[in-house]
Amino acid sequence: MIQLHNVFLSYQKDATALNNISLRIAKGEFVFLTGPSGAGKTTLLRLLYGALTPTSGQVLVDGQNVSRMTPSQIPFLRRSIGVVFQDFKLLQNRTVFENVAITLEVLGWGRADIGKKVMHILKQMGIASKVNLTPQRLSGGEQQRVALARALVNDPKILLADEPTGNLDDSNKEQILSIFKDANARGTTVVVATHDRRLIENSHKRLVSLIKGDIVEQVDPKEEDSCK
Ligand code: ADP
Ligand code: ADP
Repeated sequence: MIQLHNVFLSYQKDATALNNISLRIAKGEFVFLTGPSGAGKTTLLRLLYGALTPTSGQVLVDGQNVSRMTPSQIPFLRRSIGVVFQDFKLLQNRTVFENVAITLEVLGWGRADIGKKVMHILKQMGIASKVNLTPQRLSGGEQQRVALARALVNDPKILLADEPTGNLDDSNKEQILSIFKDANARGTTVVVATHDRRLIENSHKRLVSLIKGDIVEQVDPKEEDSCK
């Protein structure tokens, strides 16, 4: 589903954010990207949804060569990718409903279907009672769930999340993790960038560790189990 071949990314000359990264993520996998601040996690995610193009190397996502896409092709790529941003990027002057409906409006869904689907996912996320509020009236955990609802409402092939539990307490973290696992169980390939060790340890998922733009470690619990 996702392949990086010898990817280099420099924002500026002599400042390499990703240094010869090669990585494969299969359809239906759940992968954590981890590493300290500045490791390149956000940069890697941004490559996957076409917000950046690599300085060199290939980025393939869902059979498409993102490294060669023109700006007009990027919106089509994003139809199959849900993204949860670190700062949520919710529209502050729109309601919860409108923030989530946007994903389906862009895809050309009809009003009745949008209504049903949005209410369904808001219920699933436990925030249906907030449907007519604007984001500033919600807690951090609730805003995070709106961002997740917006990213997942069209059952995307891929979900990308950047530090999704940054400011959340433990009970909210558990809920967010279980939303990711549910989406993954329904077939979505999930890639989560986080430095939250507890989230990773509790989850038993594949782990890719970056430091200063290099992959320094990969742990796959499935392979470990099969060795026992
Ligand atoms: P992480 O998400 O792991 O904290 P980032 O991908 O944000 O890491 O950053 C990787 C490196 O790239 C860091 O050295 C960071 O300073 C640099 N960087 C990130 N974004 C930019 C940018 N827009 N311009 C210049 N340098 C950047
Ligand atoms: P940033 O530089 O802040 O990380 P990005 O380049 O990631 O911003 O995104 C640019 C804009 O495109 C943002 O307003 C973001 O909300 C939007 N965007 C990015 N990816 C998607 C997506 N998959 N679906 C909808 N909107 C997206």
